[in-house]
Amino acid sequence: MILLSNVSKVYDNGSTALNNISFVIERGEFVFIVGPSGAGKSTLIKLLMHEETATSGDVIIKNVNVGQLTQKQIPYLRRNMGVVFQDFRLLPNKTVYENVSFAMEVVGAPKRAIRRQVPAVLSMVGLAGKAKMLPGQLSGGEQQRVALARALVNNPAFLIADEPTGNLNPKTAMEIMELLDEINKRGTTIIMATHAKEIVNVMKKRVIAIEDGVIVRDEARGDYGYEN
Ligand code: ADP
Repeated sequence: MILLSNVSKVYDNGSTALNNISFVIERGEFVFIVGPSGAGKSTLIKLLMHEETATSGDVIIKNVNVGQLTQKQIPYLRRNMGVVFQDFRLLPNKTVYENVSFAMEVVGAPKRAIRRQVPAVLSMVGLAGKAKMLPGQLSGGEQQRVALARALVNNPAFLIADEPTGNLNPKTAMEIMELLDEINKRGTTIIMATHAKEIVNVMKKRVIAIEDGVIVRDEARGDYGYEN
């Protein structure tokens, strides 16, 4: 479970990105975060990843108050969480296999587990035949699949996706959404910030809308609700 209680974030330059927001996301949910540019979506994602810390309020992930974590405990939080971005962020000189196995190596997974888990996750995202290729040899959709495999290889409880279809054409974007839906149905909680109106309207998942740093809507099976 993720619980935000009266969370505000004021950046050092004085701009208030989030203003007293609260919500609960239960295990297994699929949640879209929507809202205009500058609304506070990325800041919210950064708080969940502990890339930024809240100015006030509590961010509680799996019963741990993230604001009270010591530097040493942060990797344990991150291990619970896979992250994918609009721009994929793959290592260009490593193969598909290595991009994914690296995520297991950095958390100290045994070699045997790596040899078992990497092919399994690549097959799950539909890339079983592309393990030896470099990211530059893949389409955008395939690169996002590699990023998803990397995010999921350590079996995180949560997947956080910041505009994951932003660089993809509509058909490829929908294929990635079908994969995310499948991943969610296997039990991973998904939190996805997006501007993709068609996708949000088709998926019929929970929608949390943020404007000017406050939650203006929180709907089960919601719509995108903006013109674009
Ligand atoms: P969104 O992702 O919805 O576009 P952001 O979370 O990026 O919104 O931004 C919310 C507000 O916080 C904006 O006013 C933005 O200018 C401000 N902001 C975001 N990041 C920073 C930062 N690192 N330093 C100062 N202000 C920031």
